[in-house]
Amino acid sequence: AKRQGKNNYQLFSHSRDIPSYKKYVLDRDMRQALLNEEFTLYFQPQVEPSKGFIVGAEVLIRWQHPQWGDVSPAEFIPLAEENHMVNQITDWEIERVCAILHEWKQKGYRLYPVSINISPMRFMKKGLVEFVQTQLEKYDVKPHYLQLEITESSLLKTDQTVLTILKELKSLGVKVAVDDFGTGYSSLDYLRKIKPDTMKIDKTFISNIKSDSEIDKGVIASILFLGKRLDMKVVAEGVEEKDQLEFLKHNECDMIQGFLFSEPVAKEKYEKMMQVGYLK
Ligand code: C2E
Ligand code: CA
Ligand code: CA
Ligand code: CA
Repeated sequence: AKRQGKNNYQLFSHSRDIPSYKKYVLDRDMRQALLNEEFTLYFQPQVEPSKGFIVGAEVLIRWQHPQWGDVSPAEFIPLAEENHMVNQITDWEIERVCAILHEWKQKGYRLYPVSINISPMRFMKKGLVEFVQTQLEKYDVKPHYLQLEITESSLLKTDQTVLTILKELKSLGVKVAVDDFGTGYSSLDYLRKIKPDTMKIDKTFISNIKSDSEIDKGVIASILFLGKRLDMKVVAEGVEEKDQLEFLKHNECDMIQGFLFSEPVAKEKYEKMMQVGYLK
């Protein structure tokens, strides 16, 4: 309460500053938003590059705020990390994804893995592995349909506990992906210790393919080579253009995620996509 009091003081003193007013409202409303079911999950399909067959999806959270409309996670997740709501939000997402996977199975859909972004803060709180296991059992979901994404940069700040938790998740059968790979300067030693199932090449590298950046192309090719050697899947993120796709295809990238195939879409739309089975 003390912390919140301090925030209030700070924000009221800048009450004409719209961004901080918005920040104040979002921070204030976040607790209620979970109860009001204002959070929704969008799905961004991932495809294999040759035929565009769907191979999975990443869930991306959206907040439909009554006053501000759709609020981007880039805006409210950092706030949720400050006010510690991020752990509740993450747990809600894990349960929601398990419930959705169960629903899809009941409907007889062919299932594809679903990836969830996990804030590094969630690893610091106890019980993540148990929570995941409980949800998988509750909804009768096979663990390999669930993948958890942790950013490369947050791996750097992590200690032995996170490595242990990642190992435990992996032994449950849950998949682990390193997000925004190439931006966090993690050492190869980390890769060796964690043995992630998936590496996601950050979109900054992908967007520079066009500008014929030899360095960025070299980085991408190296990550793809590493993935092959270490038996990890590699996802290219932020693929927007045909030329980028061609380069990635040529270098045998496993999975493509980006606006070229689809932006993140609502659940109902992703269900239709899954039933067709491929994009474009
Ligand atoms: P991220 O995990 O790197 O997610 C990819 C972001 O790139 C998403 O933005 C997605 O909409 C966007 N994107 C996908 N394809 C393209 C493309 O072709 N071009 C461009 N320019 N962008 C593309 P979004 O949904 O706004 O999410 C932003 C970030 O917020 C995410 O980055 C992730 O770090 C965080 N985030 C999103 N959802 C969650 C969540 O549920 N939990 C947590 N902890 N963080 C989340
Ligand atoms: Ca991600
Ligand atoms: Ca990413
Ligand atoms: Ca990112």
